[in-house]
Amino acid sequence: MTVLHTEGIGMTSRRTRERMIRRLMEQGIKNSDVLDAVRNVPRHLFVDDALASRSYEDTSLPIGYGQTMSQPYIVAKMTELLMLEKPLKKVLEIGTGCGYQTAVLAQLAEHVYSVERIEPLYQQAKSLLTDLHINNVSYLHADGHGGWPEKGLYDGILVAAAPAEMPETLLNQMTVGGVMLIPIGGKRNEQNEQILKRVTRTVSGYDIENLETVSFVPFLTGVN
Ligand code: SAH
Repeated sequence: MTVLHTEGIGMTSRRTRERMIRRLMEQGIKNSDVLDAVRNVPRHLFVDDALASRSYEDTSLPIGYGQTMSQPYIVAKMTELLMLEKPLKKVLEIGTGCGYQTAVLAQLAEHVYSVERIEPLYQQAKSLLTDLHINNVSYLHADGHGGWPEKGLYDGILVAAAPAEMPETLLNQMTVGGVMLIPIGGKRNEQNEQILKRVTRTVSGYDIENLETVSFVPFLTGVN
C-alpha cells in the first residue's frame, strides 16, 4: 500500500480537498479508508493545468484522446462498493485513463494491475504515479477485453469503460468471493446511459446486482 505525502498550496490546499470529502460524505460515502484515500490524492495533478481549478468539483473532466475522468463521487462510490468490508489484495483496473482512480485504489489494495488501450494515457499515468511514489501498481498497454490473466486471479476488478455486454474473460479472472464493478450498456441507449453492476463470484457461479445508472465512455476494441 502507498502512503502519499502531498501537502500543498492554493487549490491543492487541505481546505479545498476537505470540502470535497465533506461533499462525498453528504452523498453517502461512508467508508473512512476510502475517504482517506481520496483525501490523499492530489486530483489537480491528473488534469491539464487549465482545468486544475475545477479538479475538486464534483464533475467529470476531459483527459484528452476523447476520454474523461470520472467525477469524484463515482470514483469513491465504485471503490467503496469494490471493498465490501474486506481489504483488497490484487485489483485489476481496466481503463487506467489519467491514473486518478488507480492512485486511489493503490492506497487500499496490496497491488493494482491497470490496463489501458491508449498508449499516451498509459505512459502519462505511469510516469505521474511513479513521480508520486506510488509503487504498488503495474501497468499494461493492451485491450482490456483480455484482462491480465498472467497476474490473476483478482479479488477486485474495476472497469472504467462500458461494454455492451459482460466480458466473459474478466469473469474468469475473479477469485471466489471476488467482486467486479462494471458499467454495462451503451450503444443502443441514446443518452449513453449504462447500469453499474456488481458481480460477486460464488463457489457455483456469479451473483449480479444492478446498482445505479451511470455514464462512462465506451469500452473499445484494440489498442491505440
Ligand atoms: N479511471 C480513469 C477513467 C478513464 S476513462 C481515470 O480516472 O482517468 C476510461 C478509460 O478506459 C479510457 O482511458 C479508455 O481509453 C479506456 N478504455 C476503453 N476501452 C478499453 C479497453 N478495451 N481496454 C483498456 N482500456 C480501455
